[in-house]
Amino acid sequence: MHDLLIIGAGSSGSAIAARATENPNLSVLLLEAGPDYPMLSETPADIINSHNNSYTDHDWGLKYSPTQGRSVPFPRGRVTGGSSSVNTTIALRGIPEDYNGWADLGNSAWRWENVLPAFNRLERDLDFGHLSYHGDAGPISIRRYPREERVPQQEAFLDAAEQLGYPLCEDQNDPQGWGAGPQPMNKIGRLRISSAGAYLAPIRLRPNLKIHSQSTVTRLLFEKKKCIGAEVITNTGETKRYEAQTTVLCAGAIMSPAIMLRSGIGPKEELEALGITPVVDVPGVGKNLCDHPALAVVAHVKAGVQINRDDPIIQTILRYTAEGSDKRNDLQIEQISFAGTEKSPPAFSIAAVLEYQYGRGELTLQSADPQVQPNIHNRFCEDERDCSRLVQCMKDTLRFTESGAIADMIETVIFPDPARGADDETLATLCKRFSGSGYHPCGTLKMGPNTDPFSVVDQHGCCHSIDQLVVADASIMPYVPSANTNLSCIMIGEMIGEWIRTNPGRYGL
Ligand SMILES: Cc1cc2nc3c(=O)[nH]c(=O)nc-3n(C[C@H](O)[C@H](O)[C@H](O)COP(=O)(O)OP(=O)(O)OC[C@H]3O[C@@H](n4cnc5c(N)ncnc54)[C@H](O)[C@@H]3O)c2cc1C
Repeated sequence: MHDLLIIGAGSSGSAIAARATENPNLSVLLLEAGPDYPMLSETPADIINSHNNSYTDHDWGLKYSPTQGRSVPFPRGRVTGGSSSVNTTIALRGIPEDYNGWADLGNSAWRWENVLPAFNRLERDLDFGHLSYHGDAGPISIRRYPREERVPQQEAFLDAAEQLGYPLCEDQNDPQGWGAGPQPMNKIGRLRISSAGAYLAPIRLRPNLKIHSQSTVTRLLFEKKKCIGAEVITNTGETKRYEAQTTVLCAGAIMSPAIMLRSGIGPKEELEALGITPVVDVPGVGKNLCDHPALAVVAHVKAGVQINRDDPIIQTILRYTAEGSDKRNDLQIEQISFAGTEKSPPAFSIAAVLEYQYGRGELTLQSADPQVQPNIHNRFCEDERDCSRLVQCMKDTLRFTESGAIADMIETVIFPDPARGADDETLATLCKRFSGSGYHPCGTLKMGPNTDPFSVVDQHGCCHSIDQLVVADASIMPYVPSANTNLSCIMIGEMIGEWIRTNPGRYGL
């Protein structure tokens, strides 16, 4: 029997394992469904190479419905490091208002001044580490591509942004920053700095840590209303039970609620309809699904413009605020270095991304069988406030195709089809039909006071209705921050890991 059982070695779970095992009196078992690669020399190329995402070799093979009537792949990492091992390595923080907004919903521990030390602790910012709102000694190395390392279309994007009047922003993680500039990225050369490399590699020799990979949790185990561990199926088909004093669910915003539902924690009627005996009726499980809806402008480039699919997929970004919006930095535009396939004419795209979603989706089970994936419905752009701001962002993105050095590279825009026009109504139709996920799902087990019937955990991650069960990953965010989510997930791991280390009593340890 261990003190702590952590389910999922992803962005949050790896950080918690590292912080909790700093307390030598806590024994920790970390379970991961995917494989584990302790040695860089044995790590497959798709995990190392951060110039592009890894979509298939270490993936859960999920599908989701971003908008009505569509079912498309939804990548999620299945390997130690989780989605941080397969992602684009954009290392953006949310802005202070995001975390202050979480705090205002009854989660005062997450106010900006409380989370800033965790953001600083997790990073080694190689450009701005000397500033008070940065760290220079954390496990995640972050740097920005300097001008001489930027590929032509990325440099052209910054040129077009200047022509369009956007300010230059050298540090997108400056809490007050906005404008166009280099992306902060957690990569060194090609090497992706995943949570596995940054957090797990240095702690593997700790005697109080065990890592079991290829071990998929099928359900949680209970004694009355107390969680006592989890049941696992290994890659060889063996079923095992692991008991622990406290269990921490870190399986991500899709799998954490799915595990809870299968285990009988969720909306009573939904569970009973699938033949699952409810342990407790918790209406919020799987609800409040939040993400960053996105749509891209795609352009064929002129003859002579080199598009190399082995280049870094992204290097630059524009963060700004929609006209009339009270949510600062609620829009992003990103230059994607290449688009299409090897066989299609050379192309790149420019992505328009909505950074605050008013609408909400939901996740439900199709079946009690752990082999069957959940239903994931995002309902992007059904809320008019979302649709109109994504339309504005698309119009701003189209302006890039007509400006400065970007315009000089483009032969023709192929999406949206210029023949259809780009008026508000046409763009709204496209956003409602074709917007997709920025791959930042969160909010499906949101934290909040127990007076909120849809909150599942309290602000320290402790489940309201089950003892000795903690959730600590993207699921607990009350809503998506206005930034790509990896750093916020690691920050969540840092915060809850530190609370477990310094105040184990709060977690029943
Ligand atoms: C393709 C892609 C690109 C992205 N690009 C960026 C980016 O550039 N910047 C950014 O900030 N964010 C990016 N993200 C999002 C970011 O990586 C995630 O928000 C973050 O990693 C989520 O952290 P998490 O701890 O909640 O979950 P994860 O990191 O996904 O970890 C969950 C872990 O739990 C394991 N697990 C799940 N179910 C079980 C089970 N039943 N039993 C045992 N283990 C289980 C999984 O295998 C996984 O290792 C991207 C995501 C993807 C998929």
